[in-house]
Parts: sequence; C-alpha cells; structure tokens
Amino acid sequence: METLYEEVAALMVKFKKVVVLSGAGISAESGIPTFRSKGGLWEKYDPAIYASFEVFRTDPSKYWKIRGEFIKNYDKYQPNQAHSALVDLEGMGIVRYVITQNIDGLHKKAGSKNVVEIHGSLREIYCLQCSKEYLAPEVPDGMPPRCNCGGVLKPNTVLFGEQLPQEALATALHESATCKIMLLIGTSAVVYPAAALPSHAKQNGARIIEVNIEKAFPEADYFIEEKAGAALPRIVAEIKLICK
Ligand code: NAD
Repeated sequence: METLYEEVAALMVKFKKVVVLSGAGISAESGIPTFRSKGGLWEKYDPAIYASFEVFRTDPSKYWKIRGEFIKNYDKYQPNQAHSALVDLEGMGIVRYVITQNIDGLHKKAGSKNVVEIHGSLREIYCLQCSKEYLAPEVPDGMPPRCNCGGVLKPNTVLFGEQLPQEALATALHESATCKIMLLIGTSAVVYPAAALPSHAKQNGARIIEVNIEKAFPEADYFIEEKAGAALPRIVAEIKLICK
C-alpha cells in the first residue's frame, strides 16, 4: 500500500501545475513566530491593532516599535528546508507558482522565481512623502524612521485596512483557478482574501494538499500532519524516486 507521501508525490508528478499557498508556518523553522506562536510577538500585540493602517497613519512609531527590530535584523533570517524544497520543485517543473502571505521575503531569498507576495515584503521600505526606497537592514535610526526629506518610512507591506496590490491579487486568482494541485503550507487560512484561494482552486477542479502541524482547511483532499521543514524535503525525495 502507498504511503501518504508516495501518493502525494505521484499525484504531483502526474498533474504538475502545482501552485503553493504559503503562510507564516513555513517560516516558523527559520525562527520567525507565526501569529499564533506561544510567546510570539503577536500574543502580546494584537496584529489587528498594531499592524493596522489606521494606527500607522496616526502613530507610526507604534508600528515601528514592534516591527523595527525584525527589519534591522532582516539579514539574520534565512530560508529553511521547506523553502529550499520548493525551489527544487520549481526547478523540476512541478511547482508553477508560489503565492505567499508572508512578508519575510524568504521564498525569494531561497531562490524561488515565480513568487507573488500578496501582502508585500518587509525587505522594501519607502518614504510616504517622496517615495524614495530603502532596503530593510539600511533603515535610518529614529522613531519612527524618517527619510532625508523628513517623510515617514513605511515597509511595503499590506497593513490591515489597506487594499492588496491589484496585480498580485489578479495573479493569485489566476494561478488558483488554473492549477491542478494547490499545496497549502503553514497557513491557518483565516486572513481574507488569501483564505478564499484554496476554495477557489477546489471549485475549479484542483486537488488540495495541506501540510500543517494542525489541520486548518477541512476540505483538503490530503493532509500531511508534519512540520513543513520535514514534510517538503520528504515529498521531494519521493518525487526523485519516481522520476529517476
Ligand atoms: P498564522 O500565524 O495565522 O498561522 C500559521 C499556521 O502555520 C498555523 O495553521 C500553524 O498550525 C501552522 N504552523 C506552525 N508551525 C508550522 C510548521 N513548522 N510547519 C507547518 N505548519 C506550521 O499564519 P497565516 O495563515 O500566514 O496568517 C496570515 C498572516 O500572518 C499573513 O497576513 C502574514 O502576513 C502574517 N504573518 C507573516 C509572517 C511571516 O512573514 N513570516 C509571520 C507572522 C504573521
């Protein structure tokens, strides 16, 4: 009898056109807390308040006080085995696109090429006044940090209350509607509109494979209850066995 990993690998080899939807869980093993991690940042600070555009507009230092440290240490965080496995799967022609809700930039850092960061990236910082761009570790000191022109700096991420970039959303919708398999990795699938993408894919005939330490998407066809950093390399290994 086939194991779950063998079954999932065979399915991916057969259909290809796999689109990934990743969330904070894929970066947990890179040392970045998820929204729900015990003792994590977001246990102390409600993201709906601290990561809201309204609060940023009225008091940007509130946001910078909790996000500034990550941004200053941006280069310290490295992709893990799950990110690397997705680079391998893209190279094999199995993964077509990675749609990520993460703002840590780790998919691109790992080397994935077709990535759509629907919530933007903390790597890119820009001035709200003159639009000058900065890269994460080089943000000037100050609370909040300011551009030479005096304008307040803001990361290029989508805060609660802001619209998603339309082009990124269009790509995500198109990829979800046309994939054969959607691979959900480390997402609680509750933040919209990203949370609607798995159902959108399923309605258009895709099979859904979920990798998570606890089930978040009940309609998934396959559920791998495992950390992403362990599960993804194992899927790659099974695929290599089939394709050798
Ligand atoms: P979430 O925090 O709501 O859920 C994380 C999910 O990952 C949970 O279902 C959890 O069971 C699972 N998980 C935890 N560790 C895992 C592991 N090692 N392997 C596999 N699964 C694991 O995350 P979400 O669904 O992405 O929530 C959406 C919001 O969180 C997004 O808007 C995103 O921008 C933001 N966020 C991003 C980061 C990041 O960029 N790394 C970190 C925290 C929050």
